Amino acid sequence: MKNRLLICTDLDRTLIPNGPQSESNGARQRFAALCSHPEVTLAFVSGRHRALIEQAITNYCLPLPDYAIADVGTTIYRVAAAGDWQRESTWEATISADWQGLEARDIKSLLGDVPSLRLQETAKQNRHKLSFYVPIQGDRTMLSDMITRRLNDNRVSARLVWSDDEPAGVGLLDILPRCASKYHAIRSLMSTLELDTSQTVFAGDSGNDLEVLGSEIPSILVANSQQKVRQQALTMAANAGNTEQLYVASGGFMNMNGNYAAGILEGVAHFQPWTTAWMQIEAGAAHE
Ligand SMILES: [Mg+2]
Repeated sequence: MKNRLLICTDLDRTLIPNGPQSESNGARQRFAALCSHPEVTLAFVSGRHRALIEQAITNYCLPLPDYAIADVGTTIYRVAAAGDWQRESTWEATISADWQGLEARDIKSLLGDVPSLRLQETAKQNRHKLSFYVPIQGDRTMLSDMITRRLNDNRVSARLVWSDDEPAGVGLLDILPRCASKYHAIRSLMSTLELDTSQTVFAGDSGNDLEVLGSEIPSILVANSQQKVRQQALTMAANAGNTEQLYVASGGFMNMNGNYAAGILEGVAHFQPWTTAWMQIEAGAAHE
C-alpha cells in the first residue's frame, strides 16, 4: 500500500471526550471512518492498563486499534481481534535491560525503607511498572534523590514519573525502565511496522504526551489541552527544531471545534491532506 499511515493517539481527553469541553457532533464517527481504511494503522497510547483500555473502547464506541501501547509505555499489544491482545515480548525484553532484568517486585524491595511511599493497587502494577502513592505536598526532590541514588547503586536505570490525583488529594509516582515511555514505544512500533515520520502522526493533550509532542514525530495537540501544556509543547518543539512537526488544533475544520477527535482529524488533515476524503460519514449520521 502506497499511502500507509500510523495514527497514534492518547485516550483520556484526547480521543475520549472526558474533559469539561464539549465534543463536536460526529467527530468520533469521522475518526472511526478514517481508521477503517486498510492503509491506516491505529495505535492507542495510554497510561491505562489493558482492561481499562478495553472498557473505554466499549463505553465510548471507539474503533478497535491495531496496537495498544499501555501502562505509560511499558507494554505494547498487537490487537489481533476483540479480546485477542498479544503482548510484544521483544519490547519488554528491550526495556528490561534498563532494569538489569529485575522486575517491579525486585525494585520494590530495593526501596523498602524509603519513607512515605505507599504501594498502589495490584491492578496498577506490572512487571515493568512500580507505582506508589505519595503525599501530595511531600518533598519530591528529596524523595527523588533518595530513590535515584538507591537505584543507581544497583545499576538500575529508571524513569520517575510524578503526577497528582487532585480529586483524591494524593500524589502518584510511577517507576519505569528509563526507555519505557510513550515516545520510545511509538518509535519501536514505527520500526516494527517499517514506517518513518512521514507516515506517522501522534495526538495528545497533557504532560505525559510532551515528550512526543516536542519530538520529530508529527504531533497534534488537541484544542481542549490546557494553556500551560500548549506553552510547554511549543517551547519544547522550538528548542528541538521541531516547530513544523507540532500542530495545535484550533477548530474550524469541517465545522468542528478542534476538541478531542475533531482536533485529531484537523491535525491529521494538516499533515496528510489526502486523508480528508476518508473522514466523510453519511449525512445525518452525526446526529445521535
Ligand atoms: Mg490525555
